[in-house]
Amino acid sequence: MILRGILFIHAHPDDAEILAGGTLALLAQAGHNITIVSMTAGDCGTTEHGPDEIAAIRRSEAAAAANLIGARYQCAGFGDLAIFNDDPSRRRVTELLRRATPGIVITASPADYHCDHEATSILVRDACFAASAPNYQTDSRTPPPLCRPSLISISPTPWAALAALEQSSNPTSSSTLRALSP
Ligand SMILES: [Zn+2]
Repeated sequence: MILRGILFIHAHPDDAEILAGGTLALLAQAGHNITIVSMTAGDCGTTEHGPDEIAAIRRSEAAAAANLIGARYQCAGFGDLAIFNDDPSRRRVTELLRRATPGIVITASPADYHCDHEATSILVRDACFAASAPNYQTDSRTPPPLCRPSLISISPTPWAALAALEQSSNPTSSSTLRALSP
């Protein structure tokens, strides 16, 4: 078996656990090097806390969940409802990929219920292409990888994840998924 660096990058702190937590745990148990990235820290995912407070809570939750899975956690520093497919964002995500040097990248579906998920999917797709282009400049002098990573987009299955999200500190996502459930 060839061991891979696997980068799971999605929009919000609970997306990795809800959509692929079991898969990522099995891949980690098999010896693959897993990194989970959320584009935001979930700063709008509450009706009780201010943005800095909930971001700190959800970063901590995401780091603890990644630790259980056997992965590392990183936040890309975007804001909720503020992920856009623009030039600075594409360069930021490309820089993140160049530093991580994954063999496989897993990200959101390009057709999803949430604008942050769709924007993440497009940015990650484009960053997988841009990361290996030597003339595409990013912030650091990290050298571009020799080849592009394999890209996988996953489809959302919100109804299957509803029970798990009921345990989340993110009532916005819970109510959205409840509305989508059959
Ligand atoms: Zn999300």
